[in-house]
Amino acid sequence: MLNFDHAASTPTAPDVIRTMAEVMEAHSGNPSSIHRGGEAASKLLERSREVCAAAIGGVKPGELVFTSGATESNNLAVKGMMLGRNDGKKHIVTTAIEHASVYESCRQLEQLGFEVTYVRPEADGIVSFHTVLAAVREDTALVSVMHVNNETGAVQPIAEIGRQLKRLHPRVRFHVDGVQGFAQLSLDLNEAGIDLYSLSAHKIRGPRGVGILYVREGVRLFPLFSGGGQESGIRAGTENVAAIVGAAKAFRLAAEGRTERAGKMNALREMVVAEVNRHAGLRLTEPKQSSPHIIHFTFSGLKSQVILHTLEELGVQVSAQSACSAKTEKPSRVLSAMGREHEEAISGIRISLGDEHGQSEVRQLVKVIGSAVDRLAPLEGRKR
Ligand code: PLP
Repeated sequence: MLNFDHAASTPTAPDVIRTMAEVMEAHSGNPSSIHRGGEAASKLLERSREVCAAAIGGVKPGELVFTSGATESNNLAVKGMMLGRNDGKKHIVTTAIEHASVYESCRQLEQLGFEVTYVRPEADGIVSFHTVLAAVREDTALVSVMHVNNETGAVQPIAEIGRQLKRLHPRVRFHVDGVQGFAQLSLDLNEAGIDLYSLSAHKIRGPRGVGILYVREGVRLFPLFSGGGQESGIRAGTENVAAIVGAAKAFRLAAEGRTERAGKMNALREMVVAEVNRHAGLRLTEPKQSSPHIIHFTFSGLKSQVILHTLEELGVQVSAQSACSAKTEKPSRVLSAMGREHEEAISGIRISLGDEHGQSEVRQLVKVIGSAVDRLAPLEGRKR
């Protein structure tokens, strides 16, 4: 079975697994303990923070908070920024295409009396930075926009939004969900005026269950977990040292290999795009700028699940919407926000590339897409 669902999760790198096993065998101390075992664990934790800071670039180790994943990082960024405010600022600007962890956090805040503007993207899945900036009001406290959309691969104009935001509204905080961009695209957090930045280790060949939230020095968050004051008091709970050490290695490898990876994936992506374009029934989603690892298309009239099952029977695993929304049969929120009709919004397919893919795997994928279309074309429009 070929796995082309790397935007959902990636195979943990063998080096990372070895490192984690070594740490688990040698260290059982709690990094908050003051005996030697605790100090050894604490040193590993702080060294990992340094490695992650270097991998992100331009940030200080003390500005990084380890979390259980990007879902938690996004919740902490959005809710932590809004809860406990006493300056009367109750408004958030975000987009209609954010990952559920940002989107649902905003929805929850609305129930608590906060106000949210959900900016819609253009038809190609990219939000206009003018529209985002035009939505900022006197009482806006936070703007939250993702770097790369996890469904369509559309790259959002983060640097333009951040630069203009800092120029026109310097007191408004800027959060970026960087999960799907980190391994393929470089982003200068300082140049882009980013105050909060979320990452996930399992999307870049690290372990599942580790995330990072970058919190710019001086930015105050209301902690969502109360407890022992770990992670500078922002995220209580004993840190998973072995997983964090493994994650740090994965972030370093992801950053070091970024340029080469992007070049290789762009070439592979072109092969898949050419195949999708060959079939009249498939509609490629073509953002003006796309991340090299995601290819998205629709097969109007057929449900994503039907297409997914056919591809799986033929030996290829891909996704419909994001992994978190994959089990729903509802139309994709992202495609609907892009203005797609119901028939199309239920038929999206996401193919995502990973480090282990080369020309031979992609040739097999291309063949499978061809066979699947031959099988499914007679059903098109019968709303199966
Ligand atoms: N943000 C984006 C853009 C994602 O693709 C994902 C994963 O699906 C997340 C956040 C959540 O990450 P995690 O699985 O680490 O909670």
